[in-house]
Amino acid sequence: MPDTSLPNSWDARAKAHSFFGFTDLPSIRDRGTVVLTHGDGPYVIDTEGNRYLDANSGLWNMIAGFDHPALTIAAQDQYETFPGYHAFFGRMSDQAVMLSEKLIEVSPFETGKVFYTNSGSEANDTMVKMLWFLHAAEGRPQARKIITRGNAYHGVTAVSASMTGKPYNSVFGLPLPGFLHLTCPHYWREGRDGESEADFLARLVTELEEMIAREGADTIAGFFAEPVQGAGGVIPPVAGYFDAILPVLRAHGIPVIADEVITGFGRTGALWGCESYGFRPDAIISSKALTAGYFPMGAILLGPELSDRLQRATDVIEEFPHGFTASGHPVGCAIALKAIELVTEGGLLDNVNRLIPGFEAGLAKLAAHEHIGEWRGRGLMGALEAVRDKATKTPFEAHLSVSERIANTCTDHGLICRPLGQSIVLCPPFILTDAQMEEMFDKLSRALDQVFADVA
Ligand SMILES: *Cc1c(COP(=O)(O)O)cnc(C)c1O
Repeated sequence: MPDTSLPNSWDARAKAHSFFGFTDLPSIRDRGTVVLTHGDGPYVIDTEGNRYLDANSGLWNMIAGFDHPALTIAAQDQYETFPGYHAFFGRMSDQAVMLSEKLIEVSPFETGKVFYTNSGSEANDTMVKMLWFLHAAEGRPQARKIITRGNAYHGVTAVSASMTGKPYNSVFGLPLPGFLHLTCPHYWREGRDGESEADFLARLVTELEEMIAREGADTIAGFFAEPVQGAGGVIPPVAGYFDAILPVLRAHGIPVIADEVITGFGRTGALWGCESYGFRPDAIISSKALTAGYFPMGAILLGPELSDRLQRATDVIEEFPHGFTASGHPVGCAIALKAIELVTEGGLLDNVNRLIPGFEAGLAKLAAHEHIGEWRGRGLMGALEAVRDKATKTPFEAHLSVSERIANTCTDHGLICRPLGQSIVLCPPFILTDAQMEEMFDKLSRALDQVFADVA
């Protein structure tokens, strides 16, 4: 119920004139909204003065916490020097030039080129346009179909939502035609009774081969995959996945794009998720941790082959007719340069690797609970999936909203974590201390006990 007794409360004001996206409306009707004012390391503080340990790093992105002085100083300095510019007409800021050099230097590519956007969705959308443009210029205008996987999350623009493999997009009449989805490579949930992991993988390879044969290899523009599916519920692929499917795609000349919006810059313990899984994509989509969440920015990193081909395609018509007003914003670029330095030289990646064993042990310990069916994760991203019956993997009834209740109970204890389907997702900032990790697992453990006692 809206609190009419306090019409000027932050909650009432938030509800009056702010339209919420990706928000369960019954929850905010019952529990109210949380209006935040500032941060302190990995904690955020609301208008009532409540502190929350944000175990989701905002939305996976605030890897350096919420008040890192090096990032705010980089922003301040750049605002004073050159507070805004675009990247059209052969002009761009010195910061954009330097960031492109740095991104290629830290990428798995020996050389390549970078294109900037303001978000991950725009970067995926732009990459699809690049592929359509490229195939048309190379004489394959029919090569327009895009292959992704069930449970993939690639964003919310009309194209990136079409790539996303989630049922909720049907309310928009999406996906658009020509966006194809393979089976999500999640063995625990998608594997059939009696099917071994190797058999499951073989089935996925056959499915891809059959899809390519059915659709026609010459109609397919590209394949996009997150190294670990993030918003699908933190799903590392079945063992051997990329090694098995990439040769099929390569044999048909289908470009492979790694959507590293979450996995880029250290989340999996390596700088890139594709390095963790030992594969080399043709291009990388980056956003989120790129600026440690201190500026909206996305980037496409084109490997040498795709950048050469796109350059030749563009030479013919003398222009790639695409760009965003704020792409390559000098303040965003200055912040990204500092964020990358913090990850690679400032100890953040080292701390991720220091934290991983304890993080995995904490998840494994909670997974011993009779109502946790599986813990899964890679690096500093993990999930616990709630089930009514562990042996049969039977989920709790949807109307019980178990994962929402767990997350809400956590919030009451001062911990922010995210319900995703029947799972709870943890992806804390890279600056976490051991004591803060202990606090995270303690609070989550108490919330699990409370909610499972209520619903069991
Ligand atoms: C968040 C996300 C996106 C979309 O990024 P936005 O900045 O929200 O548009 C795309 N891909 C993946 C893997 C993501 O996690």
